Amino acid sequence: MLCKIIPNKCIACGLCQIKAPNIFDYHDNGIVLFAKTAEEAITIPDDVPEDILEAYKACPTRAIILEK
Ligand code: SF4
Repeated sequence: MLCKIIPNKCIACGLCQIKAPNIFDYHDNGIVLFAKTAEEAITIPDDVPEDILEAYKACPTRAIILEK
């Protein structure tokens, strides 16, 4: 499964990093990026980890995508 971010949709609200601090981080302007890679997608287990699921649900602009 893939977890993707769409920085163009991000409004820098900070919720994803609160929900999953090991996964999400921010540029200096507050726009989302992954904590451990500059890529805009990471592979995650099919059984989506709870912290990523919470961040996905919390994102108000759907800037986080979960995809098979
Ligand atoms: S929750 Fe969504 S809008 Fe808020 S910082 Fe994260 S990606 Fe951006």
